[in-house]
Amino acid sequence: MKRLGKYSFGIGDRFAREAEAQLKAIIKAKESGIDVTPVWNKSFREHDIIKSHPSETRQKANQAVENLNWNSSYFIDADHVNLTSVDFFMGHSDFFTIDVADYINKPVSSREIQSFIGRNRNLPGRIEIPGIREPYHVTDDDFEEILRKYMAAAREASGIYQHIVAAKGKGQFITEISMDEVDEPQKPIELYFILYLLKDIPLQTIAPKFTGQFFKGIDYAGDLLLFEKEFEEILLILNFAKRQFNLPGDLKLSIHSGSDKFSLYPVIKRLTTKYNQGIHLKTAGTTWLEEITGLALSGGKALTLVKKIYTIAYSRMDELCGPYRAVIDIDPEALPKPQVVDGWDERKYANTLRHVKNHPDYNPHFRQLLHVGYKVAAEMGDPFLDALENNNPVISGHVMDNLLKRHIIPLFS
Ligand SMILES: [Zn+2]
Repeated sequence: MKRLGKYSFGIGDRFAREAEAQLKAIIKAKESGIDVTPVWNKSFREHDIIKSHPSETRQKANQAVENLNWNSSYFIDADHVNLTSVDFFMGHSDFFTIDVADYINKPVSSREIQSFIGRNRNLPGRIEIPGIREPYHVTDDDFEEILRKYMAAAREASGIYQHIVAAKGKGQFITEISMDEVDEPQKPIELYFILYLLKDIPLQTIAPKFTGQFFKGIDYAGDLLLFEKEFEEILLILNFAKRQFNLPGDLKLSIHSGSDKFSLYPVIKRLTTKYNQGIHLKTAGTTWLEEITGLALSGGKALTLVKKIYTIAYSRMDELCGPYRAVIDIDPEALPKPQVVDGWDERKYANTLRHVKNHPDYNPHFRQLLHVGYKVAAEMGDPFLDALENNNPVISGHVMDNLLKRHIIPLFS
């Protein structure tokens, strides 16, 4: 069976130009004693918007690994796949994030539910989790409600998993189940039953929806103390469920939209260390935003280009935000007008974009609009890709520093 390692890091690369810079961050971490497995993740949504193909992700990753003599493992994550999109990735991925969010609350026949309850009478009741002071009391009605909510999702996950096994063979890939792109977070105790429902899949990571908001490219928005309490509960439940249901020992949590959650990293680090648990963190857009930062700071034609990207993104805000509606929070009133941005120099543009919270110019709305604005760059085609290449030394420095200093070190060291 392929192993992900205790710490793994999703390093999405929208335009497939930064694999080396990203891997350099991982290598620098390793040199200072931090072992992290790199995973290049890209969703069908990103491929579809950019008109790219997973073969390119695979090729660029392989090339970076070869050029930089990376001898440890690495993976290519088919992120957020379902039965209709999974084949697109099949020949190129060895990590599959099976997304069953759409199947939560899908109806299941009462007969099926009753038969499941009949076979698992001892599952509900008083559940005492070591480390959690109060035991949970799950009544038969609660149990039935949980099954009604998650059974179709578990069945779908199993179907997709079997489909991948048929194509790639057992043990030839990493399996993650995601249910983060939903409105309501799962309750920690629900996760216990979800893990039971998924126990026949050799899961290595699971991505629940946590409490609070995980908007793309900006910091966590929510109650930090509540997050801490729930995250600790989830870790304890996960630990208990692993022993109870004989799940893979290295099964760990996966945090989606994980970039830039600077206020959460100390909490996650402290609790995963306390309970000796691994973690997988996914990022993607943060690297694209470093590309924009690098282009802005390069000035001249590159600065003109990123101003143009903003102008177009501003005029197509609704369209660009559409696919990301649930994971961004932009106040149009707080966005600078394109005519204003046009007058900015390289520092003003970069400082408005960069995620430095106490910088007076930082504007999270500007940052989020550019986060979803990669479609504009994709449509530009060669002029954009050429600019990435021409300004590579500046850009790759920013890509590497962002991953290493602001993500890997705070989270994994
Ligand atoms: Zn996700």
